[in-house]
Amino acid sequence: MSATQPCSLLIEDEPAQREVLSYNLESESYRVLQAGSGDEGLLIAREEIPDLIVLDWMLPGVSGIEVCRQIKSRNETKDIPVIMLSARSEEVDKVRGLETGADDYVVKPYSVKEMLARVRTQLRRTRAAAVGEQLVFEDIILDGETHKVTRSGAEIKLGPTEFRLLSHFMEKPGRVWPREQLLDRVWGRDTYVDTRTVDVHVGRLRKALAKQGGEDPIRTVRGAGYALG
Ligand code: CA
Repeated sequence: MSATQPCSLLIEDEPAQREVLSYNLESESYRVLQAGSGDEGLLIAREEIPDLIVLDWMLPGVSGIEVCRQIKSRNETKDIPVIMLSARSEEVDKVRGLETGADDYVVKPYSVKEMLARVRTQLRRTRAAAVGEQLVFEDIILDGETHKVTRSGAEIKLGPTEFRLLSHFMEKPGRVWPREQLLDRVWGRDTYVDTRTVDVHVGRLRKALAKQGGEDPIRTVRGAGYALG
């Protein structure tokens, strides 16, 4: 086991589910820590500072929602991406899960392949943060200092709002952002614009990114919002 292997923490009370996911993560050469309860999970998260946490919503005792809230409220653990697992597919639950700070939300039963893809996406985000002022997502590079954006090496011209929107997306690839949250964070809470404005600017951003060809990196999630990747 090398120190450079990404380390993930699984917090799930059902041993069978934990074993399957653990087996699959290990075969992708991740180091895996396991916790069978929320309390144990919080303890390990604080001691080990894993690179990623997969967290079940339904846990005996401290619920997944509460575990997530605690992880995201502590300085030493708040930057660890959390993927929340839930048997509840209701959109309202999904939004609630994301509002407690979860970075992604996966509904059970899920395909292992999809789960591993989401794990990779979250770990990519951690790497992007590690390069400092530059955010990187696939062939897109955003330089926070010079305010330049390139895709496959060619410069992309963006308006200030599109730039802020893209940098917001690039800080957390894979995360689904409800329009209201984007309004709050990109435009500010006190501006009198409606959610339709978000659609307009996301449209402009897509158009600008498509100029150099390549796939549309932004996903529209019906009834939920937008995500990068
Ligand atoms: Ca459970």
